[in-house]
Amino acid sequence: MLFIMKKRPVYLLIFFILLPPSLSAKAQSDFHQHFINRTLRLDYTQSGNANTSVYNFEQLKQEPQWAGSVTQLIDPLNYGQYRVMVYDSASQQLVYSRGYSSLFREWQDTPEAGRLNRSFYETVLMPFPKKTIRVVLEKRLKNQSFKKGFELYVNPKNYFINKEKPRNFSVEKLQHFGNPHKKVDVVILPEGYTKKEMDKFRKDCKRFVQFFNQTPPFSKRKKDFNFWLVMAPSEETGTDSPGENIWKKTLLNTSFYTFDSKRYLTSQDVKAIRNLAACAPYDQIYILVNTDRYGGGGIYNYYNLCTSDHPLSLKVFTHEFGHAFGSLADEYAYGHSDPARLYDLSKEPYEPNITTLIDFNSKWADLVKKNTPVPTPDSQEYRNKVGAFEGAGYVSKKVYRPVWDCKMRSNDTNSFCPVCTRSLNRMIDLYTK
Ligand SMILES: [Zn+2]
Repeated sequence: MLFIMKKRPVYLLIFFILLPPSLSAKAQSDFHQHFINRTLRLDYTQSGNANTSVYNFEQLKQEPQWAGSVTQLIDPLNYGQYRVMVYDSASQQLVYSRGYSSLFREWQDTPEAGRLNRSFYETVLMPFPKKTIRVVLEKRLKNQSFKKGFELYVNPKNYFINKEKPRNFSVEKLQHFGNPHKKVDVVILPEGYTKKEMDKFRKDCKRFVQFFNQTPPFSKRKKDFNFWLVMAPSEETGTDSPGENIWKKTLLNTSFYTFDSKRYLTSQDVKAIRNLAACAPYDQIYILVNTDRYGGGGIYNYYNLCTSDHPLSLKVFTHEFGHAFGSLADEYAYGHSDPARLYDLSKEPYEPNITTLIDFNSKWADLVKKNTPVPTPDSQEYRNKVGAFEGAGYVSKKVYRPVWDCKMRSNDTNSFCPVCTRSLNRMIDLYTK
């Protein structure tokens, strides 16, 4: 079982060595056949409760530059609670796809969703089409299959597509290694920094990016990342904290106490966030919140947040990026959740760093040494080994993680485990190769 994957890399290696030049040229011509170098943003709300959801169209918007890949248009990784599928309307050929998750989907697992209907703003990005496209938004069901939730034909000539330019804030290149089509572009947005604190924002960002560049695997891939800063001040310092009756006038309306969890820092003002992010070319949004409190949040291809001045802030920065960029799951158990409530235990969850052991070969069986038992005992002997340790993804039973401790499990370590590392490298490749 553990060595079943051993022969595969040989075939893969030959494949990758022989094919990239022609594949890449064809993929680029595919891009230029279907798209121009701008972004189409589709805004909608999802409303509902624990069991149901309805999509409601809000607007279409054109944003200045397409920062994503022009060679890897179809998402091969298949992560996230949702995916956007873009078809050429005439041929019905799939021309673009990406996975993502959302705050609404997280809220659906909270007790409040059992007694209340709520509505959340969401957005998806795609390259701007040359011809009419059919955009389909799909949601992942518990059994891991996808179901269509929304469909819209978009004619690029439609004069209702909002072409308003982004606000006129100055944009700084904190780290720039070249063409956004071939880099992971991270835009850092300031939240709760006043005009007088813009220099603090710049210095804070330098500190975070320096730490990021020292953290493997990012340390070895430094030149694959661009970091952009949008110099946009808030009226007041800090952020909201409803539990302490603290309310601040800030640009992006972030708040602690998301879903009544004191340290869970998010924003529901996705429209304001996207509008501000559009000032720079970007793939990932990082919101840096000017406070010394502990907290943060990260949702896959949605946004990242962390705070500026808590002693653990740097570690939180890379952990949340693991969620929002890498689609990595938390490798810890939380409370006494029933695993069957959150997972279909007869299927593999989509996150690359947790497993139900239903199809372990599709996860990281190839990284487990022959003499390491699976499931792996919680004993000193296996503390530094890759295996399958019970307790991950917020549940203590029946869901397994790769190592005893990883950056996706605790702040005690500053390393991503070998499984998370491999997965992050694959994700960087998706943006850069
Ligand atoms: Zn890990």
